[in-house]
Formats: sequence, structure tokens, C-alpha cells
Amino acid sequence: MRSPERRAALPLAALVLLAGCVSHVRGQTQAEFEQCLGRLQPAAQKAGVEPASFRRYTQGTPADFTVLEKLDYQPEFKLAIWDYLAGLVDDERVADGKERLQRYAAVLRQVEATYGVDAATVVAVWGVESDYGRITGKYPLVQALGTLSCFGRRQDYFRGEFFAALRILQRGDIAPERLYGSWAGAFGHTQFMPQTYERLAVDFDGDGRRDLVDNSADALASTANFLRRGGWQNGLTWGFEVRLPPGFDPSLAGRKNKRPASEWAARGIVAVDGKNLANSGLAEGERTAILLPAGMRGPAFIVTRNFDVIYGYNAAESYALAIAHLADRLRGGGPFVTPWPTDDAGLSRAERRELQTLLAARGYDIGAIDGALGEKSRAAIKQEQGRLGQEATGRGGQKILRALRAEQPAPPR
Ligand code: CA
Repeated sequence: MRSPERRAALPLAALVLLAGCVSHVRGQTQAEFEQCLGRLQPAAQKAGVEPASFRRYTQGTPADFTVLEKLDYQPEFKLAIWDYLAGLVDDERVADGKERLQRYAAVLRQVEATYGVDAATVVAVWGVESDYGRITGKYPLVQALGTLSCFGRRQDYFRGEFFAALRILQRGDIAPERLYGSWAGAFGHTQFMPQTYERLAVDFDGDGRRDLVDNSADALASTANFLRRGGWQNGLTWGFEVRLPPGFDPSLAGRKNKRPASEWAARGIVAVDGKNLANSGLAEGERTAILLPAGMRGPAFIVTRNFDVIYGYNAAESYALAIAHLADRLRGGGPFVTPWPTDDAGLSRAERRELQTLLAARGYDIGAIDGALGEKSRAAIKQEQGRLGQEATGRGGQKILRALRAEQPAPPR
């Protein structure tokens, strides 16, 4: 749900100008936005937002038409699982997570005692969702959700979230100037949507406010509460890497194709270290599934219902695998044993920043050196791949990084 961009928020005046300019193209205007807000007010009142609160938190809010572009954005290519994981579970995030495990050891112990979710899992969600609270989104929530409630696809859905955001402000849980999030409305350390917040956020430090923006204890406990309510079973592994027997039928794989662990064992599946599944912490009757995120040639995993609970956080298997794997790394585990089926492995965030620095040294305007390979970085990578005789895909991987590293000094353009 997060935006990959890290531009600083524009001043309000610039936003108004920008909105005016984009609205002209789209045929949508600030006046239409204000009329729409006026029409939504009675529905907001029915949903528990007092008229005075509605006025107070929406009056003078400019529409942000850029969120509609995000809503309609179609990525030009799908990130391979190995690129996705290389950025989300890198040495930096593991080291940061281990530091957080120590720093918050006391509160994490209380959280585990209260909700039955272990510290490494809670901290791994935190790391993947917001980089431990560092990246929580730059969109004022009322503005973004208000705009999405009035224009574009899925207005009904966003209205529910919009009204929930207004209720959060009305209750005083979070101050308006602190309620920023992704373009789609996920906010705070846990990146909850407002309605998820209302259902599942908890006030763990007991100050009377459920603060997922500025209070780590509330955020960690709310994450644990989310997982507990999703059915987390403490002490059960999410799963682990396995080795498939020759001739394994790939149609048996899939998260929903649950079978007792004993059945997979009988088909010849063993833990990746060769151990019997039952000796690797899985009860014989445990309902499990086999995941093949990159098909038969990449790493294979056996997963339990706890994997499904993590999946519930963001409804993507690659995402759940990132959290599960980061949690294992935080417990001292190593990288996957089976290599991904590629001869050009993905880049950590440190390597992405290095690649961006090498591109900038060659005169490319790639914006901020932020480790996020956006459109400008990809265009530059594509050109350099062409120049170096590599396949010009625009994808940042080890091959282009190594080739640019080897050129010292950088050639002039
Ligand atoms: Ca609190």
C-alpha cells in the first residue's frame, strides 16, 4: 500500500496549483470536490462524524488529483519475486530489526504475553510495512481519502475509509497534522487502513489514545492484535524451505491446497536440510500447503495456517513470504538454500543506492538516491544496459551493477 516515492510533501500552495493543473486535464475541479464533500456530509453524520467535526477537518482541504493517477497506475512490469525479496529482506533490514528486538525487548515480551505473537514476527511486520516506522506515507489522509471518495473507481470503498479517518480525528486518537499515510490511506507504523485501525488498534501504553503514528508500543501491540485476531497460533512455525522429490507434480502446490504434513512426507518432501518434516517442527496432522513462488526451479516452501495469517495483512504471497523470511532472519536464520532461477540476482537497498550513485555519476537525472528504482532510474539503467551490450530491460540487477562498478572512472556522456 505504500508509495515507493519519497518526495517531501509539497507546500499547500503548490498542491493547490498542481491540483488545478491536473484537474483541468481530467475535467475535475476543486469546486466539484467541494460540492461532493457537501453531498457526503449527511452520510458521514450517519456514520458517526458530527457535522462540526466534518466541517473542521474537511473545510479548505484541496483535492489531490495525483491520488487518482496512483489508483489507475498500471506497472509496466511485474517485479520478480527475487527482486522483491532482495529489497525487503536485506542485511540492513535484518540489522535494524535485531536492534529493534533489543531496544523494545521489554514491550515485546509484554506484547507476546498479551497476544501470543512472538517478537520476531511482530518486528518483521513492522520492518516490511514501514521500515520500522521510517516510511509511513506522505499523503494527508483526509485529503487523499476525500479525493478518492469523490472521483475515480471504488468511491464506495474509499468513503468507508474516509469516514473512519474523520472518526479517528474526532476521537482525538491522532492529531490531524500527524495523520499522513499512503495515497490509498494506509497509515502509521503498522500501515493500517482507518477501518482496520478502528477494529484492531490498541492503546498498549495506557495513555488513553491508540496512536499508531508516534507510539511504538501501541503500534507493536496493534500488529500482534491483528495477527492474533487472524488466528495466529503461538509456537507454530509459519513454515520453512523444503526439498521436493524428483517428479513432484506442481499442480499439488498452492496455498489453498492444504494437506496433512504426513501426506507431503509420504510423497517424498523433506526439509531443505534433508530432515523429515516431522523432525522439523511439524505435527503429522498439521494442515499445510506447498508454495513454489518461482515455479519448480526455485526455492520451495511448506507453509502452515500461520502463513495464512501473515497473508491476511496484505493479501499477497510474496509479501507474506518477505515477513516470514525476515522473521526467520531476525531469529538468526540464514538466506534460502535453493537459489532463485536467475543468473542475475536482485539488489539490496544498499546496492540499489550504489547503482543510483553510479548512474548519477554518468550524468543521469535519477532524482533522490533513495534505493527505490523508479521510472527515472529504470530509464537510465535501460540506456546503460544498451551501451554495455546487455539486454536493455531497465531492471536493476547484479549484472548492470557489476558492469558499472568495473568502469572507473565513469565514462563521460
Ligand atoms: Ca497509547
